Amino acid sequence: MTLTLIGHDRRFAVEQAALNYFPREGGGHAVSRLSHSGRLASAAVEYGGKKARGRAWVPPDAPPDGALRMAFYRAARQLIEPPPWGALTGIRPVKKLEELADSLSGSERGGERIPGPPAFEKAARELTRRYDVSPVRAGMAADCAASAAPVRDRLGEKDVALYIGIPFCPTRCAYCSFVSSSVERDAGLTGRYVETLLEEIALAGETVSRLGLRVRALYWGGGTPAVLSPEQFSSLCGAVRACFPLEFLEEHTVEAGRPDAVTPEKLAAYREGGAARVSVNPQTLREDVLDAIGRRHTPEQFWEAYGQARRAGFDTVNVDLIAGLPGDGTEGFLSGLERILAAAPENITVHTLARKRASRVAAEALPVCPARTVGEMLDGAGERLRKNGYAPYYLYRQKFTEGGFENTGWTKPGKACLYNLCMMEELCSVLSLGAGGVTKWVGKRIERLFHCKYPLEYIGRRDTMGDILTAFEGLYLKNGRTDG
Ligand code: SF4
Repeated sequence: MTLTLIGHDRRFAVEQAALNYFPREGGGHAVSRLSHSGRLASAAVEYGGKKARGRAWVPPDAPPDGALRMAFYRAARQLIEPPPWGALTGIRPVKKLEELADSLSGSERGGERIPGPPAFEKAARELTRRYDVSPVRAGMAADCAASAAPVRDRLGEKDVALYIGIPFCPTRCAYCSFVSSSVERDAGLTGRYVETLLEEIALAGETVSRLGLRVRALYWGGGTPAVLSPEQFSSLCGAVRACFPLEFLEEHTVEAGRPDAVTPEKLAAYREGGAARVSVNPQTLREDVLDAIGRRHTPEQFWEAYGQARRAGFDTVNVDLIAGLPGDGTEGFLSGLERILAAAPENITVHTLARKRASRVAAEALPVCPARTVGEMLDGAGERLRKNGYAPYYLYRQKFTEGGFENTGWTKPGKACLYNLCMMEELCSVLSLGAGGVTKWVGKRIERLFHCKYPLEYIGRRDTMGDILTAFEGLYLKNGRTDG
C-alpha cells in the first residue's frame, strides 16, 4: 500500500493511522485529502476503487490533529474492515482508558479519583463509544488497568525497578531490529562486557543506596541472558546482591530467552541467585516457521528447556509467542498455543509481528501473515487463554504491525509480573544497566535516559559510564523525590 496525502501539512496526524488501517500487501494506493477550516476537519479517502468522506469537530482551543485523525478514520472506516483499536493510534491504549476512567469518576464524584474495576468497565464502554474500539480490545484494556491500579497505589516514590541488559544472542532472528550481538560473531566480547557491567553495578549500587531507593523488581533482559555461563551470571548476580539494598525486592526474573541457550546448570545459577521467575521463549512451535525466522532451535528444545525450568523450581514461568510470523497460519499458531496451555505456564506473552525497518523480515520482504490472519490468531488466542484462566495484565501496541494489533501479557491470577507492570504502565522509575537499555525516571513527568546501544561501545566508554547515573540522581534531587 502506498499513501498519498493531499491538502494538509499535518501528515503525521494520519500517517500512523493509515499504516494501521490499510494492508501493506496488495492493497494498492490510498489517497486522502485532508482539510480543516474553523472548527470542522474533513477527510476524503479513495481506496480500492471506492471513495468515502469523514468529518469531525475541532475542540475549542485545541490543535486540529485529533479531529483530522478522527475525520480520516471516519472516512477510512467505510472502506476497510473494522480496525481492532478503532480510531486510537497511540501505543498505550490502556492509558487512554485510565484517563477516561479518571474523568468519568471525577465528573461523578467531585473530582475524586476512584480507580477500580467498575470505573474501568465503564471507561471500556466509553472507549468503544467514542473511539470505536472493539469491545474485546476495550475489555482487555480494562483488565490491564485493573491489574495496574493496586500496584500504582502501593508503590511509593522511593520504589524502583532494576533492569540489567545482556544484549547477546546465539543468532539473529529475522524479525529482530534490536542491537543484540551474535555470540557467534562476537565471541570473546561477552567476558569484557561482564567485567564492565560489574563496574557499573558497583557504581549504580552506590547511587541507589545514597538516594535511599527501594529496589522492588530485578529483571535480567536481552538479547538472551542465557548466553552467559553460570559462572558469569553468578558473579554478576553476586555483585548485585552485594551492592544494592534488596530487602524490599519482591520479584526477580531472568528472561533466559532462546531455549537452545538454556541448560540445567544455568537455571540452577539463576535459582541460587534468588530468581523465581524465568522466561523461556519459543515464539512458535512450528519447526518450519522457526527455520524461516532463523532461530536455530527445535520445538523439542523448547520443551526440554521448559521442563528443566520446572525441575529447577521456578514458580513462575513465562512463555513468549509471536502471531503473524512468516510462513505461519491460524491453525498452526493456535495448536501451538494449545500445547503450551496444556503445560500451564503462569504467564504467556502474545506478541504481534512488527516489520521493523532494520529487520530481515522488512529488508528481504519476507511474506508475513495478512492482518486478517493475525486478527484470527489473536482473537483465537484470547478466547483460549481466558477459557484456561488467564487474563491480560499489560498491553501495548507497536509501529509496523499488520492491522495495528497489540502485544499482550497474559497471566494466571496473582502471577502478574511486577517488572512488566512497572515498565509498561510507568508505575515507578526503572534504572537500566548495560548496553541497549533505557533508564526511565517516573515523576510528575517522565524522563528517558538512553544508554549506548552496542556492547562494544559500552565497553569502550567506561570513563563515562557514571553519566546516566548522575543524571538519574539529579532528577531525584531536583524533584525532591528521595524522602517519600
Ligand atoms: S532472541 Fe530477541 S533480541 Fe535476540 S535476535 Fe532474537 S529477537 Fe533479537
